[in-house]
Amino acid sequence: MHEYSITQSLVQAVEEELEARGLGAAVQEVHLKLGLFSGAVKGPVEFYYEMLTKEGRLAGSKLMIEETPLVLCCKNCQAEWASEEPVFRCGKCESQNIEITGGREMTVDKIVFDDEES
Ligand SMILES: [Zn+2]
Repeated sequence: MHEYSITQSLVQAVEEELEARGLGAAVQEVHLKLGLFSGAVKGPVEFYYEMLTKEGRLAGSKLMIEETPLVLCCKNCQAEWASEEPVFRCGKCESQNIEITGGREMTVDKIVFDDEES
């Protein structure tokens, strides 16, 4: 049920954003960037999104998830690479001084409204 609360706060955040900006048009799509290491899994998030938006401001909208890879950066030689799993050793200089610079994000990329042309 971990994804349930994540999705719930996502839906809330989007609703608040729409409210704050005074946007009244019906929402068609919510585009989300989901890092492979954000701690949330795509499938359950989609499932709960549908469940949580049966009514309310986001009713009928679709959640479009783009999964973003884990990005690692070597602090020794500044090499940067994307990875499916965390490998904490630099392929260039063998350093183990590695930092995660991407892949943990969960951000709303854009919101598409019904009256917008794509
Ligand atoms: Zn390196």
